Amino acid sequence: MAALVAGIHYPRSAGEFQAWFRTDADCLDYLEWLRWPGRFVCPGCGHTGGWRLGDGRFWCGGCGARTSVTAGTIFDRTRTPLTVWFTACWLFATQKDGVSALSLQRALAIGSYQTAWAMLHRLRSVLVRPGRDRLAGRVEVDETYIGGEEPGLRGGRARGKKVLTGIAVEAKEPTGIGRCRMALLADGSSASLHPFVTGHVEPGATVITDAWMGYHGLAGLGYVHQRRSQRAARARGDDPGELLPAVHRVASLAKRWLLSTHQGSVEEAHLQSYLDEFVFRFNRRRSASRGLVFYRVLELAAGHDPVRYRNIVAGKRPRKIPPTPPTARGHPPSLVRSPAERPWRTADLGYSG
Ligand SMILES: [Zn+2]
Repeated sequence: MAALVAGIHYPRSAGEFQAWFRTDADCLDYLEWLRWPGRFVCPGCGHTGGWRLGDGRFWCGGCGARTSVTAGTIFDRTRTPLTVWFTACWLFATQKDGVSALSLQRALAIGSYQTAWAMLHRLRSVLVRPGRDRLAGRVEVDETYIGGEEPGLRGGRARGKKVLTGIAVEAKEPTGIGRCRMALLADGSSASLHPFVTGHVEPGATVITDAWMGYHGLAGLGYVHQRRSQRAARARGDDPGELLPAVHRVASLAKRWLLSTHQGSVEEAHLQSYLDEFVFRFNRRRSASRGLVFYRVLELAAGHDPVRYRNIVAGKRPRKIPPTPPTARGHPPSLVRSPAERPWRTADLGYSG
């Protein structure tokens, strides 16, 4: 695929975003271009080529099925106008720390909190691309409890809201941080830690851990395993908390982000999807253009299977109080804007002369 060009493939700025996506039809056309660059491909039978019908759907020349641009994507059967979806994607992708459900609800005049919350969860659910590259080079790996401040707990079950989370971070030489990965762990045993490492780190990489026994055996899995002992660090007079500085840095950024943007109000059942969002944004922190990040989110969204509300709320553990599904009231009006004829010119500010 040819290189993506700012100002042609994706908007360069908020002004360009607003100029490009003025109507729901503009958004639909962009999605169509993203999904079927060149020619329509039937998602049912794989046939290439078809006809556009009067209602905007496509008629497959192979099997005769009718398909809409949004069918089979996360925008499938959405009652939220695409202008609202696109603006949500823009905020999600371009804000340095993302956006909370409450601020999205306010910014886009979305009637219900649940609708805004579910939109953000749909976006989060597309961020982990199947078959994405694993980390390589020198990779620090550690586990930490997220959702609480108690240090020192290890190996056992999470207490309260704290959830044991595996963190892997590329550590550049001599200093600097590359990409990261984060995943919830059942516990700190090698049965949990080994699959975390093999799932997120390329074989042949150098894996740097502390001396915890859960990491024993990594050399046998095709890694160069460097172990750093807390006891040896203490004996040298070094800070044992800084044994794995890259992991330490990423973990504290993730915790701070959960506490600030989301005010810590993240349930265990949804923690993984918040971590996916953090990792997605962290790994694109040096992206030359925020508009390119917006393009990536939409590209993933257009290529992702539909995500149903029940799948979002299902999570890993049942909630005590099920959230109310969005009602008709919750669906926001389109953000299509018509000229407003400068209403301030008709206002009287009370001055005379
Ligand atoms: Zn077909």
